[in-house]
Amino acid sequence: MRAPLTRGRQKGESVETVDHDSEVEAGQRAARRDEAVRAAVEQGLLGPDRPLVGLLDVTGIRRAAAELRAAFDAATAPGTPVLHAFAVKATPLVPVLRLLHQAGIGAEVASPGELALARAAGIPAGATVLDSPAKTPAELREALALGIAVNADNPQELDRLDALMRSAPSRSPLGIRVNPQVGGGSIEALSTATATSKFGVALRDEGAREWVLRAYEERPWLTRLHAHTGSQGIPLSLMAQGVAETYALAEEINRRVGRRQVDTIDIGGGLPVNFSSDATAPTYAQYARLLAEAVPGLFDGRYGLVTEFGRSLLAKHGTIVARVEYAKTAGGRPVAVTHAGVQVATRTVYAPGAWPLRIAAYDAKGRPKEGPAVVQDVAGPACFAGDLLAREQPLPLLEQGDYAAALDTGAYYFAHHYAYNSLARPGVYGYAADGRGGVAFAVVREPQTVAEIVTESGGAHARALTALPTARDD
Ligand SMILES: *Cc1c(COP(=O)(O)O)cnc(C)c1O
Repeated sequence: MRAPLTRGRQKGESVETVDHDSEVEAGQRAARRDEAVRAAVEQGLLGPDRPLVGLLDVTGIRRAAAELRAAFDAATAPGTPVLHAFAVKATPLVPVLRLLHQAGIGAEVASPGELALARAAGIPAGATVLDSPAKTPAELREALALGIAVNADNPQELDRLDALMRSAPSRSPLGIRVNPQVGGGSIEALSTATATSKFGVALRDEGAREWVLRAYEERPWLTRLHAHTGSQGIPLSLMAQGVAETYALAEEINRRVGRRQVDTIDIGGGLPVNFSSDATAPTYAQYARLLAEAVPGLFDGRYGLVTEFGRSLLAKHGTIVARVEYAKTAGGRPVAVTHAGVQVATRTVYAPGAWPLRIAAYDAKGRPKEGPAVVQDVAGPACFAGDLLAREQPLPLLEQGDYAAALDTGAYYFAHHYAYNSLARPGVYGYAADGRGGVAFAVVREPQTVAEIVTESGGAHARALTALPTARDD
């Protein structure tokens, strides 16, 4: 098996030490990926007329879910209720949610669409958490009618919950989202716990803590407390500090009201992902151990827990594979023009410094490409110069008909289609060993057709604008 080319670890990246098990797991995952790419070409999922696919490693997803559960089971007192709610926004695909559900994982949703996906996947209300920062009265009413947990983002939302609770009792567990304002990480747009972050009640603002304490005192039905302080680019120590401050607030609320009113703490998600090699780092076990050291009381059985991991569950189990349509040079630099660009890797294309991706090279038969590393660009199909999947990456020289694979793209990449240039959403397929030495694929999402693009772009209303009355001076 070939070791894929990797970027060196970058300064400031909080990659924890890689333990032996996760190194073995990383090697197995890379081997499964190589086999899947070859099988995708052999079985015709990829080819001249199907130049782009998203692939999901079903075995890897199952293992990640099992590792998450095992990590918190090992850290918590026996019998502690723990709900791991997958942040649906990371990979909003119904079959993925169903697979996770089967592996004991629920759903964290933040819009009517995400809630509908979770319900379509069969995730029960009791395993669903609603967190969006802009919930309408109708969404809140639906959530409370279904019994879905809701974390109120702000005082105005709490007013709405008050009104709903007065009009009809609900079995929904209800809480408030707080922002411990512990600071941001290296990616500004993803830092949820800065002083001015838009999420939750900013705890360190004047009067805010007292307001939260009183809110719980006055509402015996507020039984949860929520914070989500991590994300890509945030050091683990800062995440742990956010959790510690949330725990301290729960303790303070319970002291104030004189009983264990807050019975569950939702610590959010946000575990960063290592995009620079196949290794899973940090692991859930490392994070759970760190939390157990930093906030021992959180795990002693007095509180139920909710987690909301997204990226760390799915990122390393997805691969975008794109055919090299043309190989050229510009200014002396080789450029492989592929079918994967801004439409499937939007963040990488618009913010390449924050979101670099590793690329693996495969030949026309889908076999790992051999050969000396050549510094080259891997471009996408969109009509603007910045549409590059990778810049100056050393890879075996990509040639026409080869395939370029963007690794670790199972979360926030190919499932988040961006319709630039009316480029079609690629098909997404899950893969697993077929038990006979080969690879079996399952359709997760059909590729979008050109007819669908026309329909979704107002095709049924072609005459709508020309049919409007014409002004006399036109
Ligand atoms: C996005 C989000 C998550 C998931 O974050 P990841 O970085 O993908 O783990 C969890 N909770 C909330 C409230 C979120 O907004």
